Amino acid sequence: MDSSGRCGATGVLFVRDVVTMPIGSAAHRHPRHAIVIASGGLDSTVLAYWLAARGAELTLLSVDYGQRHRVELEHATDIARLLNCPQEIIDLSALGRLLAGSALTDAEMSVPDGYYTDKSMRATVVPNRNAIMLDIAVAMAVARKADVVAFGAHAGDHAIYPDCRPEFVERFTRSVRTANEGLLVDEFEIVAPFLTQSKTDIVRLGAALGVPFERTWSCYRGEAEHCGTCGTCTERKEAFEQSGISDPTRYRAV
Ligand SMILES: [Zn+2]
Repeated sequence: MDSSGRCGATGVLFVRDVVTMPIGSAAHRHPRHAIVIASGGLDSTVLAYWLAARGAELTLLSVDYGQRHRVELEHATDIARLLNCPQEIIDLSALGRLLAGSALTDAEMSVPDGYYTDKSMRATVVPNRNAIMLDIAVAMAVARKADVVAFGAHAGDHAIYPDCRPEFVERFTRSVRTANEGLLVDEFEIVAPFLTQSKTDIVRLGAALGVPFERTWSCYRGEAEHCGTCGTCTERKEAFEQSGISDPTRYRAV
């Protein structure tokens, strides 16, 4: 990516040292075309910038699953515009009605405050969310002959979200290879380069890549500003503090 923010550009990389750093399984090659699950959040945005800097053509995939923080989708659209990449928004809003019991899709449930390691955070699990979104992304990869599906799960997610663990990605990849045998391009892989990285690592990488953090959205409450106290706001604040990178986010509660 060059200073104009072009995606998949062939221009000189101005963050060469960072973008060539080995992270996870993607270290051995540079993807040609990646379908990136893009929520508009910090992790998936850094992931998109990282892939763009590696020269990949990107298609951003955003999913409306009836989440209360639907505002994040506008941020994903913003990021797509900045990267000059196509974005597909899939409307699964009706799904939210079926997922009663999750604080992210059930208006009757309140969003808990605290840390991801807190038991109360189980209320923010959305049943089978990553498998649902990855399945759509893989189907797009088949149709468009993309060689990579990428998503931004990271080590801090493991405590609460079972579908953000390396064993899930490994087994899911085996499943989709079987389900789409002869249809996926040979070199196809699911890339989740942050699985063993902390959010602090992701913030540092994003800063080096020039990611516009202020254009990303994390808060589960989805109000006018980040609340500053829900699980993802807490993690976001901590990541900036620990990384030593200035946090441009406006939080309601300080
Ligand atoms: Zn929040």
